Amino acid sequence: MGEDLQREELMISQDCSVAVIGAGIVGIAAAHALSVRHGRRDVLLIDPNPPMSLTSACSGENYRNWWPHPTMTAFTDDSIALMEDIAGQSGNRINMTRRGYALCTRASGESLIEELHWGYGESAASHIRVHDAGATGTYQPPLTEAWETAPLGVDVVRDQALIRQTFPSFADDIAMVIHIRRAGDISGQQLGQFMLEQFRDSGGRIVTGAVVGVEQDTAFTLDLKTSEGVQQVRADMIVNAAGPFVGVIASLVDIKLPVVNVLQQKIAFEDRDGCVPRDMPFAIDLDGQSIDWSDEEREMLQDDPQTDWLTRPMPGAIHCRPDGGGRWIKLGWAYNQAQTAPAWEPYLDPAFREIVLRGAARLNPALKAYYGRLPRNISHYGGFYTMTEENWPLIGPMGAEGAFVVGALSGFGTMAACAAGKLCAAWVTGSDLPDYAADLSLQRYENGPLMTDLSALQSKGVL
Ligand SMILES: Cc1cc2nc3c(=O)[nH]c(=O)nc-3n(C[C@H](O)[C@H](O)[C@H](O)COP(=O)(O)OP(=O)(O)OC[C@H]3O[C@@H](n4cnc5c(N)ncnc54)[C@H](O)[C@@H]3O)c2cc1C
Repeated sequence: MGEDLQREELMISQDCSVAVIGAGIVGIAAAHALSVRHGRRDVLLIDPNPPMSLTSACSGENYRNWWPHPTMTAFTDDSIALMEDIAGQSGNRINMTRRGYALCTRASGESLIEELHWGYGESAASHIRVHDAGATGTYQPPLTEAWETAPLGVDVVRDQALIRQTFPSFADDIAMVIHIRRAGDISGQQLGQFMLEQFRDSGGRIVTGAVVGVEQDTAFTLDLKTSEGVQQVRADMIVNAAGPFVGVIASLVDIKLPVVNVLQQKIAFEDRDGCVPRDMPFAIDLDGQSIDWSDEEREMLQDDPQTDWLTRPMPGAIHCRPDGGGRWIKLGWAYNQAQTAPAWEPYLDPAFREIVLRGAARLNPALKAYYGRLPRNISHYGGFYTMTEENWPLIGPMGAEGAFVVGALSGFGTMAACAAGKLCAAWVTGSDLPDYAADLSLQRYENGPLMTDLSALQSKGVL
């Protein structure tokens, strides 16, 4: 960043119509929608840190339109369409691919198929294709990663010979693969950068500072802690997009949001032994498991009350995918459920590396080659899933006149940012709202039947 620009960003002299608090992917998307889509020229994007440097820097960067409820399917479908527009406009600067998600199970999975039908709602019948042994329908394996030409819909593959042929690295006991086709990965950093450039070109400004106080009268006065001391900004409206700190910002205007923070981690390393095929989709082992420890390791873990839990049954949904053009792979497992206060630098447990590796080797047994010998230049990172109980986001009025929230995007904020930002900007500007707007806002807590339905769902779509 040039010196002039830096100075300009520290000089906060003007009032603004909207101050967006937080320059993660979600705040950037909201600021982008306000300035580029709605033509607002005086939008401030405020953050003490470089854009995209907190949770948004930890994303696995995967996207999917697979959800246990049609509302979340519609919302992410909208977001994927917006990302596809950006990929198209920018010569695919965001590196969008579409190899799909391969959901794997050893069970017959009837309940999973029912869930799939419920999640895709009215389009389920035309979306879902089942491939049993001897069936005549054609299953198109993930031959291409080009998002423009890869198939849509969902392939349920129950023909085990076809599974072996298509996914040779998977364990022999996999009985069903549900291949979600509108799914893949993107570069979240490039997506953020692209929207930030358009935001600046439309007159948007970024301010370096932390919001430490908010007073409301006819407008908002924000106290910003900057390197030059505390400065004040007046804003007609505020958008709270502070990621894990969304609850802290809300508390500055005496609002308590129903959100918690749960730390989740990932690792990435060079697959120097070539254990995972480069054309494998994002593969998820849906089944719970007991981690593959040797008898000796198991005894040691059981002897210590701090580690005993690692020998008990673990939840499913461990995932693995090839990353980028080289030989790197990414592994993740959102088994942690402990709620904690948000932190700028969360503690990452070094044991996570071996835990996630052992767990992932159940679906891709060749990964056992790395037991106890993961490469030294491994990348281990993590951040908070900021989430509501039902794992739906909070987008819309925050509970004080002129204050809005766009947050609680849990483990789906990269893929949902574009639609979340667009929806938030529609609330702020009083524009037309999509059908799902109320249900993704705080208003859903007044909708008893919806909340009853959500609490009855088997899965909350946490990955
Ligand atoms: C391990 C992991 C894997 C993930 N994988 C995926 C995935 O594969 N696909 C997917 O779609 N999503 C994924 N996610 C989720 C996704 O990363 C998040 O939902 C998303 O990044 C949240 O973005 P955000 O802008 O809300 O938060 P953040 O990126 O945390 O941004 C919030 C910003 O607010 C700023 N801020 C905080 N307090 C203040 C203040 N007082 N004043 C001003 N600014 C403030 C912070 O500095 C920060 O820059 C993953 C998350 C994790 C942790």
